Amino acid sequence: MPDVKTGTNSSCDVVIVGAGFSGLYMLHRLRGLGFSARVFEAGDGVGGTWFWNRYPGARVDIESQEYSYSFSDELQDEWVWTERYAAQPELLAYLNHVADRFDLRRDIQFETRVTAARFDEAAMRWNVVTDRGETVSARFCVMATGCLSVTNEPNFPGMESFAGASYHTGRWPHAGVDFTGKRVGVIGTGSSAIQSIPVIAAQAAHVHVFQRTPNYSVPAHNGPIDPRVVADWKANRAEYRQKARESGAGILAAGASEQSALEVSAEERQRIYEQRWARGGFAMGGAFIDIAINPEANATAAAFVADKIRGLVDDPKVAEALIPTSYPFATKRLCVDTGYYAAFNRDNVTLVDVRAAPIEAITPTGLRTAEADYALDAIVYAIGFDAMTGALGAIDIRGRDGISLRAAWAEGPRTYLGLMVAGFPNLFTITGPGSPSVLSNMVVSIEQHVDWISDCLVALADRQAGAIEATPEAQSDWVDHVNAAADFTLFPQANSWYLGANIPGKPRVFMPYVGGVGVYRQLCADVAAKDYEGFRLTSAAG
Ligand code: NAP
Repeated sequence: MPDVKTGTNSSCDVVIVGAGFSGLYMLHRLRGLGFSARVFEAGDGVGGTWFWNRYPGARVDIESQEYSYSFSDELQDEWVWTERYAAQPELLAYLNHVADRFDLRRDIQFETRVTAARFDEAAMRWNVVTDRGETVSARFCVMATGCLSVTNEPNFPGMESFAGASYHTGRWPHAGVDFTGKRVGVIGTGSSAIQSIPVIAAQAAHVHVFQRTPNYSVPAHNGPIDPRVVADWKANRAEYRQKARESGAGILAAGASEQSALEVSAEERQRIYEQRWARGGFAMGGAFIDIAINPEANATAAAFVADKIRGLVDDPKVAEALIPTSYPFATKRLCVDTGYYAAFNRDNVTLVDVRAAPIEAITPTGLRTAEADYALDAIVYAIGFDAMTGALGAIDIRGRDGISLRAAWAEGPRTYLGLMVAGFPNLFTITGPGSPSVLSNMVVSIEQHVDWISDCLVALADRQAGAIEATPEAQSDWVDHVNAAADFTLFPQANSWYLGANIPGKPRVFMPYVGGVGVYRQLCADVAAKDYEGFRLTSAAG
């Protein structure tokens, strides 16, 4: 029954948008603290990223035990990962297990998309509107909407005329796709393409890879999880978790070095790179402290990986085409692969340079570039996401005076600590722009944000404060700091999705905070300890 006073269908303390890693843990924490919470989730199941991204070869790039919740000892004791890097089905099974184990489903409404959230200043409450015509009134609203959840939609001329099947890696059919005997075109060479191409190539008749910009990729060396790793992790888990929280990227396996690439001899540098390449995954990125900040140091890593690519790819012309030359090493998200470069040694894989000869159209029979026509039965759009701001921009969020978040962020996202936005009281963003987020182990960053938000709501209750809001001054200072930190690095030199460069018309602003999860965690804790410095706390009446 609608509540007559507010005109809404129901009310609760907190609305959480999204039931991925963030939303599930947020719900669990809030329940434990006695808050009433409701989760709205567009999918028909939990899992977020791992619910939607079911493309062949999808797996996590961070070692499984590190890419998992740390909040429950029981959960950590009972769940056993099978692979060094868990594949999508196992990750989805894990998140379903979490939902069941903590009895979360009863507060999650599936197949429900939040379309609007409007702040009612008189009542100091958020009215959250769904695509089912429901409006829920809540004092707090937590956006657990994910950083890579809104797909970059292809808009090539002639797409609707294609007679074959089309797929986006970020919205893969749940029943899977059988490419046996098919001529497949994959557009894009980011992480999703790099993971899926070797798997699709093993099945399809032929794969054409349409590459605009090559990416740096390092081998995962995936396999069954080593029982010694499991035992060691069990014995030292608490210490490892704490180390990860205090580290730069929240990834212990990256083994972040304190050494400069330029303070060692060329032989020693080569030995260290070889060792890291053999270890696999993000270990390459952590080889030296100055890879991301010093062009000369960066060039040594770039040259090492280029040589590896030359060694892995038989055809020298193809190898050269796969070597990035237009941006520094790892300034676009480093990819972690299983057999990516070797896939180009197969007779049924062809690399097509669509930088030199751009895609002109999708035709009824395939794809046409400025140079040639390619006959295809299926097209895989591995073209990425409207990252970090896409999901928030998709919701009509209105704060004080009806100001819209889209308008407030027209020149790029502005937040205080990546947690709140001035003018939008009681609205929190988990791993929002301005926080380490996508530059870190997402699970580490998610847990930190959920814990901070939970503590904040308790602090508000203790102080009998009804609302918290970032001040415009604190937000401006934080945005300046986030920009200065990015400018200190080589990251802004790449046309990456970190900068919004992949979406036409999106403002070019480096969105995540490069300061590192340990430094950032301390900053957030200090702000809370200083009575929420930079925030304005107000009474329930405003
Ligand atoms: P992405 O990194 O944005 O890559 C998209 C690719 O599509 C790029 O190669 C891009 O080329 C190309 N592209 C886009 N529009 C195009 C066009 N009109 N014509 C030709 N090529 C076009 O997207 P993603 O691979 O889905 O990965 C996104 C992020 O998701 C990753 O960086 C990572 O953070 C995350 N992810 C993680 C995992 C994991 O942890 N295992 C796996 C997959 C994804 P340009 O570079 O020239 O723009």
